[in-house]
Amino acid sequence: MSDTFKAMVIEDKDGKQQASIKDLTIADLPDNDVLVEVSYSTLNYKDGLAVSGKGIARRLPMVGGVDLAGTVLESASDEFKPGDKVVVNGFGLSELYWGGYSQKQKLKSDWLIKLPDGFSMQEAMAIGTAGYTSMLCVLALEKAGITPDKGEILVTGAAGGVGSVAIALLAKLGYTVVASSGREETHAYLKKLGASSVISREETMGKGRPFDKERWAGAIDSVGSSILASVIAQLNYGGAVAAVGLAAGTDLPTSVLPFILRGVSLIGVDSVMASKEIRQEAWARLAQDLDKSIFDDMITVEPMSNLPALAEQIIKGQIKGRVVIDVN
Ligand code: NDP
Repeated sequence: MSDTFKAMVIEDKDGKQQASIKDLTIADLPDNDVLVEVSYSTLNYKDGLAVSGKGIARRLPMVGGVDLAGTVLESASDEFKPGDKVVVNGFGLSELYWGGYSQKQKLKSDWLIKLPDGFSMQEAMAIGTAGYTSMLCVLALEKAGITPDKGEILVTGAAGGVGSVAIALLAKLGYTVVASSGREETHAYLKKLGASSVISREETMGKGRPFDKERWAGAIDSVGSSILASVIAQLNYGGAVAAVGLAAGTDLPTSVLPFILRGVSLIGVDSVMASKEIRQEAWARLAQDLDKSIFDDMITVEPMSNLPALAEQIIKGQIKGRVVIDVN
């Protein structure tokens, strides 16, 4: 084992958070019970905010990366032994705790799950937090009784990570999926993933009223703000939207009318602190319901050194699908 290894470290530089690749040793790592040799991490929207110094890291220095997949090197926990292949998604990595942009990392055993059956480490990271969250959204719609026969499902922020995996999952499950995307060049890609049609952000807004014509049986929204308000306004009677993101903003200019006149539901989805049981359910369903051939069009693999540029791109909504980070 070489003494030093590489990590993307976010530090304070003249009052601003700045990320750069540093050499670390095992002694630099936090005092957690499982040492993991990391193979891959990913790029999520939140990683973009962290690496570009937008204040996601609440302790400095911070090692970024909300996801990782790797192999256990040492473990003080009975649950894991050297050689086990493991995955972590969320749990405050990159915000409060050191994350996956490191060739080695020490993690709490409570955060780890075994690499889900049926996936390689690279495939698990192709899914990553974004994809596993898409499955949480699908589960939320199912629990709300939104079955494929109820009508069309809208996916906003469609060409992003959450949107791309959500479309593939819903299509495979027999739903008719309409993708909402601000990028015309992604339309062929979205149809290949399984969207039956693609509409622009303007078309998604409809008349922009808080109570509009019924249009969607359900929706998965990673955008927030006036787009989410329009989706709520256009849900069919008894419809539901899984709200998961804030790519357009954290505000929600809506009214109570769709809720009290159409009985619609706004379901919040959180991946970061979801229990191990929920995570395992989501990963088991991903193994069952995700057609892995979509990865051919959906993923790019990038080195850690490209993270600063990729971070700027994801914040500007310019990333298509999922980016896997090869940390080695
Ligand atoms: P991406 O950047 O990959 O996707 C976001 C997509 O939203 C973009 O690709 C773009 O899609 C669209 N978009 C971007 N900016 C705007 C805008 N100003 N107005 C309207 N649409 C816009 O990010 P992820 O898929 O990784 O994450 C999506 C969101 O979900 C983020 O806000 C993220 O923080 C959140 N998230 C939340 C989780 C949770 O646990 N609640 C977990 C994971 C993610 P297009 O070009 O097709 O329109």
